Amino acid sequence: MSGKMIGKMLGNVVLVGAGPGDPELLTLAAVRALSDADVVLIDALVNRAVLEHTKPSTRVIEVGKRGGARSTPQAFIERLMIQEARAGQRVVRLKGGDPFLFGRGGEESAHLRAAGIDVEVIPGITSGLAAPLAAGISVTHRDVSPGVIFVTGHEKDGAAERIDWHALVASGLTLVVYMGVANAARLQEKLLAAGMDPATPLAAISNATLAEQRIATGTAATLRATIESNAIVSPAILVIGEVARTAAAQRLAEFARAASA
Ligand code: SAH
Repeated sequence: MSGKMIGKMLGNVVLVGAGPGDPELLTLAAVRALSDADVVLIDALVNRAVLEHTKPSTRVIEVGKRGGARSTPQAFIERLMIQEARAGQRVVRLKGGDPFLFGRGGEESAHLRAAGIDVEVIPGITSGLAAPLAAGISVTHRDVSPGVIFVTGHEKDGAAERIDWHALVASGLTLVVYMGVANAARLQEKLLAAGMDPATPLAAISNATLAEQRIATGTAATLRATIESNAIVSPAILVIGEVARTAAAQRLAEFARAASA
């Protein structure tokens, strides 16, 4: 679809997932969209290394938001995309991970379509899958967990307040929590109050797939302490459930390898 003007569409925007961090984890479709782009609107979490796929003439506009930091208002970003697309520019909106998973891609594509803009969406590898993998965790496991739940730990806009934590805990499925680090103490309280076994294994992975990656392990009862004592900072993914036990095993194996090297 990208590049082709269809019927009376007034322009075109490609929403692209840039993956979790490592630029090797871009899709071929993302590389193709970047190399076609006239304008790229880029989020804070996206690794700048992926811009090597753009043309020298491509304009790069930073529209990052980062927990607490000053951010570009969403309405401004949407207006800018509409304006550029209507001017015939090939617009790429580049987001970390997958553009629709906690990425506001759904809202943006609805606004763009309402403005008569054609929208193409290119999926990306989400951090909620890449981070557990980096820690040696399989989020589903035939013997241990028949499913996985992706959930936000972010409290600002009331999102985490609407979650039925009792139901999540009762499901016994693996929990993968995005945006949970700033709010670790509350999250720990909620999980335990919802009846989670305090001994449930947990792994916290920050900056997954990047050189700064850190992995820490603990249990539901030590969630906050695990994050604080291991200097786990945002962006980080928490994996809570039996499957996280293998992360501890992987860390021990890494220590053993490092010690014998
Ligand atoms: N659309 C993104 C998520 C955006 S919300 C995706 O699919 O991955 C931002 C949250 O994503 C962060 O607070 C963190 O929980 C997670 N995240 C993004 N990149 C990460 C990384 N490299 N390592 C660990 N967590 C990451």
